[in-house]
Amino acid sequence: MTYFTKDKPYNTLNEYNKIRYNSKVSKIALNGGFTCPNKDGKVGIGGCTYCSRLGSGDFAGDIKLSFHDQYYQIKQIIDKKWKNTKYMPYLQANSNTYDKVENLEKIYNEILEIDPNNTVGLAIATRADCIDKDIVNLLKKINEKKDVIIELGLQTSNEKTANIINRCMTNKCFIDAVNMLHEANIFIVVHIINGLPYENEEDMLNTIHFLNKLPINSIKFHSLLILKNTKMYEQYIKNPFHILTEDEYIDIVCKQICILRDDIIIERLQADSSFLDLVEPLWTRRKLAVMDKIDMYLRNNNLYQGIYYKK
Ligand code: SF4
Repeated sequence: MTYFTKDKPYNTLNEYNKIRYNSKVSKIALNGGFTCPNKDGKVGIGGCTYCSRLGSGDFAGDIKLSFHDQYYQIKQIIDKKWKNTKYMPYLQANSNTYDKVENLEKIYNEILEIDPNNTVGLAIATRADCIDKDIVNLLKKINEKKDVIIELGLQTSNEKTANIINRCMTNKCFIDAVNMLHEANIFIVVHIINGLPYENEEDMLNTIHFLNKLPINSIKFHSLLILKNTKMYEQYIKNPFHILTEDEYIDIVCKQICILRDDIIIERLQADSSFLDLVEPLWTRRKLAVMDKIDMYLRNNNLYQGIYYKK
């Protein structure tokens, strides 16, 4: 089954949600005050070099508020924009499976009890090295009541680049986590970044070939964002590297869509960032225009998701 539309020749999350939940679904990004093993010294110090001070959760709720209050504060904003939507609470900032299983169970259940009639599930962003057998068993248990979506950061399949960005996680660890989650019937979303330091087109296409071989359900494409107060910003100032232009980004994403397996849902084509912290690339501020250009390029060239996919 595909979730293409007339204007978007690829599986869109909107179409998938309409069929799965019979509704539009809006994410509500919550902040659970988690940290990350790549920051606190368990596997690394300082975190991934591009990570923002808010743990790549710049649009999540206010940590000073309870989950209940964060949820309703953000819901109020969404309701002004969209009518007749259901909601997906989303634990976004840092690594949201990085705690004891009993604490996680309490947190996940608390969130799912806030607005049970209007929420369709719980999305949880985390790292592959924060997934183990006990966590998977917990997620499986919750998934039997409400959909659980796990969002894993891979960013690149090139382990040399992974070292440069201080990812502190091997591809093997990522593959193991994906397989464990898949066996437990958990919906898996993978985040990738285009334009990482010194990567070329072949590297970025290889990341898609790598993912095509894994049982993932969905992907989020991001352009690398250089944000103030990050390690990457310091490195970029000292040793500038090539930043993708808007045209280069559109070209690479279109090529990636063409080789992407045709059952994978595309949840995002471009990163969001806080305008205040963004240093480069400035064209990413025009997110909707970039998305439109990607759609137009695909349509005008009769291209679609998976057209050049090879097993
Ligand atoms: S894994 Fe995520 S939260 Fe942790 S340092 Fe990297 S980007 Fe930041």
